[in-house]
Amino acid sequence: MHPAVLTCLIALGLLMLVITIKTLLFKRQIPVIDKTITAYPKVNDAVKHLREIIGFKTVSNADSAKTNWQEFLNLHKWLQETYPATHSRLEKIIISDYTLIYHWKGSDPTRKPVLYTAHQDVVPVGDIEKWIHNPYSGDISEDGFLWGRGSLDIKIQMIAILETIEFQLLQGYSPQRGIYLCFGHDEEVGGKLGAAKAAEYFRNQGVSFSFLIDEGGAVTNNMISGLKKPFAAIGVGEKGYLDVELSCTQKGGHSSMPPAETALGLIARAIAKLEKTQFPLKLTKVPREMFKNLGPFMPLHYRIILANLWFFKPLFLLLMAGNGAPNAMIRTTTAPTMASGSQAPNVLAARAAATINLRLLTGTSSNQAIARIRRVIRDKRIELKTLLVNEPSEISPMDTVQYRILSETILQVFPDSVVSPYLMLGGTDAIKYQDICENIFRFCPMHVHSSELDRIHSYNERISLKNIENAVIFFSQLFVNIDNKL
Ligand SMILES: [Zn+2]
Repeated sequence: MHPAVLTCLIALGLLMLVITIKTLLFKRQIPVIDKTITAYPKVNDAVKHLREIIGFKTVSNADSAKTNWQEFLNLHKWLQETYPATHSRLEKIIISDYTLIYHWKGSDPTRKPVLYTAHQDVVPVGDIEKWIHNPYSGDISEDGFLWGRGSLDIKIQMIAILETIEFQLLQGYSPQRGIYLCFGHDEEVGGKLGAAKAAEYFRNQGVSFSFLIDEGGAVTNNMISGLKKPFAAIGVGEKGYLDVELSCTQKGGHSSMPPAETALGLIARAIAKLEKTQFPLKLTKVPREMFKNLGPFMPLHYRIILANLWFFKPLFLLLMAGNGAPNAMIRTTTAPTMASGSQAPNVLAARAAATINLRLLTGTSSNQAIARIRRVIRDKRIELKTLLVNEPSEISPMDTVQYRILSETILQVFPDSVVSPYLMLGGTDAIKYQDICENIFRFCPMHVHSSELDRIHSYNERISLKNIENAVIFFSQLFVNIDNKL
């Protein structure tokens, strides 16, 4: 045998050996946790209250003149009647007229407080004819679901938090650590007057938090193909958001004698370039951590790849790039969403424009993204204008006692699940608090099939009675765990 061939064979053998060993060692220790569940409020009360709160049509609108504010005020009155202990014992602060903060003072002022947050507002119901049950009915169907706008997003979280607080107050509990609740009124339209102003209030008061929980990932089956266990996803960060308008001004006029290049044609060409030259694939910290956590519970071929990312990373990224959510986790995405040209079929557009919606990956600023768009389009006739921007969020640390307490609480309520951080593709109110809290976590204590999540912001939103129970148990347990272990 030629020495070069022999060397190659030895190298290949060694490579196989390392890959095999790494795959065999690719395991994850499931922490042993205390399975005792603390006392929790009556689930029937939570069900009743969720039905009632769904009845308030707290639809937020980007144009605040179009919002029916009376519905919010009615909701506040109902809260006062439904949670009397909370309203008599906790300090209530109103922000921007409709956002509610409650403060339960802790016995130990040296400990930083915690913040439980959710939002009161919901998105519009759309075509009501498409709903099987009236979206504001809170109907309970025989198969064990409670129907209505906000049932999953996210009035359940508000109810579960309030049931917990009311219950603990009535039990005579006295927390060591201060507790704040904050229920925003405009999360669905950007949170600028709600969470953003609430955060400003806390900053002005010199209040910062040791732990914050907001809506976010849930416990899902079939979200990650091949994963054998339910995946409990803790959102530890959010992608950024950027709307850019591309526009082009050319000579308009009659379309019977068109020039070789038209404004609309140039815009179309720019969009085609952007679609062809996507942002690069990048395995950032959170998705990497996620696959490290989930990998050991995936089929062998995934385990081989994930245990050996040092070798297979390019292949892994290519595999991920093909499909929706995984692709969105590993790159800044580019989506052309709106376009305009002339107003008539036989008139050339004097100005054509298109809006591109980008979701910025951790580590990619809006300025970097815009500079790249310019490079890809490479056409001075196309003007760029930033319409709306939210930079990517900070990433909450995952090696802290706060993260551990949260993940252990999740395992107490969802013992079969595998808990892992993940990167949220959409936005939440939580990002507004990132300069007054390092440990921000986005999690919804519900075990749902991914098809149930498709109903959020769509028709026939509903929550199972089992998940109402899960939410109540989870927040009661979290409340006690945080106060005792943090
Ligand atoms: Zn929401």
